[in-house]
Amino acid sequence: DSFESANLRKFVVDNILRSGYKKPTPIQKHAIPIIMSGRDLMACAQTGSGKTAAFLLPMINVLLQDSRDLVIGENGCAQPQVIIVSPTRELTLQIFNEARKFAHGSILKIAVAYGGTAVRHQGDQISRGCHILVATPGRLHDFVDRNRISFESVRFVVLDEADRMLDMGFMPSVEKMMQHPTMVPSGDRQTLMFSATFPEDIQHLAGRFLSNYLFVAV
Ligand code: AMP
Repeated sequence: DSFESANLRKFVVDNILRSGYKKPTPIQKHAIPIIMSGRDLMACAQTGSGKTAAFLLPMINVLLQDSRDLVIGENGCAQPQVIIVSPTRELTLQIFNEARKFAHGSILKIAVAYGGTAVRHQGDQISRGCHILVATPGRLHDFVDRNRISFESVRFVVLDEADRMLDMGFMPSVEKMMQHPTMVPSGDRQTLMFSATFPEDIQHLAGRFLSNYLFVAV
């Protein structure tokens, strides 16, 4: 019942403790070992439960533990190893800032992409290469359609607040990412889906996007 006992690297534990988190929240306690074991996950957790750290910490741990070189494809097309999709600019920025906090002092590069602001700065950050990309669905596809981002190096896909993405009409975009010709097959990546609620249409999406997944509700 502590971050120290979660098998995370010392570097990650130090960054957690520096954030002032003393012990894992219930979603963190359950999700971290599942994600570290390599399984897909469907998690029902509200905002405020600590769900962001629940997916960021084990992914950062894996990226550092079993690191792979950053690949930048032809014409500066970035190949992120983690794609986190969330419905709003605010949530995307929150996840981005939390990821920067936990990866602070490591080699990991983190980029963010959301709409309503110029593409230029985000594009520059992306084309320098990124291990982790946090994005809203629309802006993600702006970059994908211009061959600035591709999915062949993806190790993790996170769909955060899936129920809100559904309500906001983003599922066709999410679908397009999951079916993208460059996306690694579901058996060769880990997919993590988070949702506050678990109605039938979310269950159906989990069945399609995840493979042999574990379910956690807190
Ligand atoms: P989230 O559910 O990810 O939006 O997190 C809600 C808030 O809880 C955020 O402000 C986090 O910084 C904070 N938080 C997350 N995990 C912990 C923890 N283990 N201990 C204390 N605060 C936490």
